Amino acid sequence: MSAEATLKNPYSLSKEQIPPTIVEQIDAVERANLTKKIKAQLKQQNAVVVAHYYTEPDLQILADETGGYVSDSLDMARFGHESEAETLVVCGVKFMGETAKILNPEKRILMPDLNANCSLDLGCPEDKFSAFCDAHPDHVVVVYANTSAAVKARADWMVTSGSAVDVVKQLASEGKKIIWAPDKYLGDYVQQETGADMLIWQGACIVHEEFKAQELETLRSHHPEAKVLVHPESPAAVIAQADLVGSTTAIIKAVTEMDATKFIVATDKGIFHKMQQAAPEKILIEAPTAGKSATCISCAHCPWMAMNGLRKLSKVLETGKNEIFVEVEIARRAKQSIQRLLDFTSNKSATSMANDA
Ligand code: SF4
Repeated sequence: MSAEATLKNPYSLSKEQIPPTIVEQIDAVERANLTKKIKAQLKQQNAVVVAHYYTEPDLQILADETGGYVSDSLDMARFGHESEAETLVVCGVKFMGETAKILNPEKRILMPDLNANCSLDLGCPEDKFSAFCDAHPDHVVVVYANTSAAVKARADWMVTSGSAVDVVKQLASEGKKIIWAPDKYLGDYVQQETGADMLIWQGACIVHEEFKAQELETLRSHHPEAKVLVHPESPAAVIAQADLVGSTTAIIKAVTEMDATKFIVATDKGIFHKMQQAAPEKILIEAPTAGKSATCISCAHCPWMAMNGLRKLSKVLETGKNEIFVEVEIARRAKQSIQRLLDFTSNKSATSMANDA
């Protein structure tokens, strides 16, 4: 590891930047009425809903029922690109809407709430990040998907949690030194897995950062037969207890494929909808975010993801407001870093299919 493997945090989020988690409360009648109305709006406007696994079940069900899509951020972008719909309504957070626009400049991209952001994106402002990159010109810049379009435009590569280890391993094998941003926990995990020479930006996901190692140990002692599934944005002491460390897609796959009936899950609890759908017979337990050592703020549900709901979705389809735009030159440069990942993952899957054949 480089002597300067981590970086003094040049920017930290203030408490005021973190909203409370407020989930839309609607009764069965309103839900049915809104769902009916939105289905008609989508059809009339040749629009589809592209939702993240962390959004509310109402939105995920609606996306599934109307030819839309529910997935992780990379697959959401891929689906948007392949879809014939003229409008994509991205239910997720801002960087997902921006990525959809970058990959589909000809489409109209709407979001239910433009305030839906992400602590990783907010914790890595482009001006400060750019100055840091300028100070280390001999490093390849690798950024996580959870960044603004402007930060992606400053990067050489964009990666996701499912692809970060493979990409960094490849770059390290070419003797490259790496700037990693913004998630420090994912960065530490990637560094540990690859041995790469990395300078790591000190951002964090406020949801995953709250998982508590000590309380997880206690919970595991009460459920010794349970497998522990952990997203790598979690602290190292939580990751160390995992049977599987992986992206949201990998976590959903694990619950269907692993030989266990009980799972402790350390990621946003919005994912439980798809996990339970994929494996209804399995028992899912939330990993602890509070306990003796602290109380939680987000309590395993992202405040920004929770800003998406049926009421706002219907409203945005009615008004056409909340459209996402990305400045042309930023989009052009950001697309290069995204495209590198898309090419890398399709080459990798072609190679593994050839090896399997
Ligand atoms: S769960 Fe964390 S990483 Fe995901 S959008 Fe929310 S703050 Fe960002």
